[in-house]
Amino acid sequence: MYICYLCNGLERMSYDCAVCGANMLDGGKIVDYYGDYSPYMEIEDAQMVDGVPNSYGEHQCVHIGVCSACNHMEEIMVKEQTFH
Ligand SMILES: [Zn+2]
Ligand SMILES: [Zn+2]
Repeated sequence: MYICYLCNGLERMSYDCAVCGANMLDGGKIVDYYGDYSPYMEIEDAQMVDGVPNSYGEHQCVHIGVCSACNHMEEIMVKEQTFH
C-alpha cells in the first residue's frame, strides 16, 4: 500500500522556503484548509476498498508547508511511498 510518510509521522518535511531558504514546517494536509468537503479522503477510502491503488494516478499527498522564519506558505506535493 502507499502511504504519505508525513501524514503518518514517519518523516519530517524537509523543504526549504522559496523566499528565504529557511526550513519549512508541515502545516498539515491541504484538505484541512479547504473545509469539510474533502474529495481526497473519499478517494483514499475508495482505493482501500477496490484494491487498485493507482486509481488516483500519481501517489501524492498535498501538504501545506509553512516557513519557520517568514511564514511563507506553499503547497507541497509529497510523494507517497510503499509501506510494508
Ligand atoms: Zn500527507
Ligand atoms: Zn521563508
